[in-house]
Amino acid sequence: SQAKVLFDAAQMTAQLEAMARAIVGDQRQCPDLCLVGIRTGGVHLAKRLAVLVGSLLGAEPDTGIMDITLYRDDWTTQHSRPKVGTTQIAFDLEGRRVVLVDDVLYTGRTVRAALDELMDFGRACRIDLAVLIDRGGRELPVQPDFVGATVLGEPNQVIEVLLTEEGYPSDQVVSLP
Ligand code: 5GP
Ligand code: MG
Repeated sequence: SQAKVLFDAAQMTAQLEAMARAIVGDQRQCPDLCLVGIRTGGVHLAKRLAVLVGSLLGAEPDTGIMDITLYRDDWTTQHSRPKVGTTQIAFDLEGRRVVLVDDVLYTGRTVRAALDELMDFGRACRIDLAVLIDRGGRELPVQPDFVGATVLGEPNQVIEVLLTEEGYPSDQVVSLP
């Protein structure tokens, strides 16, 4: 099985820049933008988006981290459930505009768990979802507000988002058949 390159570093940069412009362009009455990234991939992307938004707005928004891990229920089922781990949000979300960030959106179960966890950090004015890749396959009514690209492949076709922050020589989105 060969990995197929879907997007290179330049394309990913363009996607993130477009997402940052869309986030800034959609102000809709909520003050104090902050970004919360979901575990590894989403955390790096939230930080990058914060820098891009910061260069557009003149001030870099706060970022927080959520650790949500998928685990198999038991060996008989293919289904996995999100388990909420450590959350590092060093500020109150009360009245603020929150953008939740993840690298890949699939069933929507991780986002559902993240929303549930976010409720403990104050009543946000509004929560949006930003993902670099939407690979379809939703099992819950969860849709992204900001998307880098939609890649609708085979059900078992996994997308990998490789980031330099994780030690890869360059950013890349690849698909594994
Ligand atoms: P969910 O199915 O809950 O929407 O996605 C589960 C979690 O696994 C999310 O954090 C998402 O980033 C990740 N995920 C889902 N599908 C893929 C995939 O194809 N590739 C990668 N790298 N992550 C995925
Ligand atoms: Mg992820």
